[in-house]
Amino acid sequence: MKEQTLALIKPDAIAKRYQGLIIHEILEAGFEIKAMKMLHLTEEGAKAFYAVHKEKEFYEPLVEFMTSGSIIAMILEKENAVADYRELMGPTDPGAAAEGTLRRKFAETTRRNAVHGSDSPDNAKKEIAFFF
Ligand code: GDP
Repeated sequence: MKEQTLALIKPDAIAKRYQGLIIHEILEAGFEIKAMKMLHLTEEGAKAFYAVHKEKEFYEPLVEFMTSGSIIAMILEKENAVADYRELMGPTDPGAAAEGTLRRKFAETTRRNAVHGSDSPDNAKKEIAFFF
């Protein structure tokens, strides 16, 4: 059964003009892009999106980073989209990311890690509703 997930291209990747390459990889991996928009998160928006991390020491710098420039939000669709997109992204720390993953290719650091993808089907629904 087809499934949807929420993908973001983060400000570091946009600043480096990687958005075209990332979208190309997503399409090559078999995802359909059902919706896409470019936006600039407000501080309030970034805080709400990452509210689950509000007790973490990286929360404030994460909000600062995510509001530092424009992002691209996309609804991706394919069979097993949530898990398959997490696999295409690679882990949070790009130093631990496998060859061929988006974070291995395009991320700088654990914070400035180029892309986001929902971590469960439930969160995918919530995150899609947040942006679309
Ligand atoms: P994700 O699902 O792989 O994006 O990771 P999380 O949901 O755990 O964290 C959300 C985002 O917060 C990550 O993508 C990073 O941008 C940032 N982040 C997470 N963990 C750390 C950390 O230990 N240090 C820093 N600086 N940033 C982090």
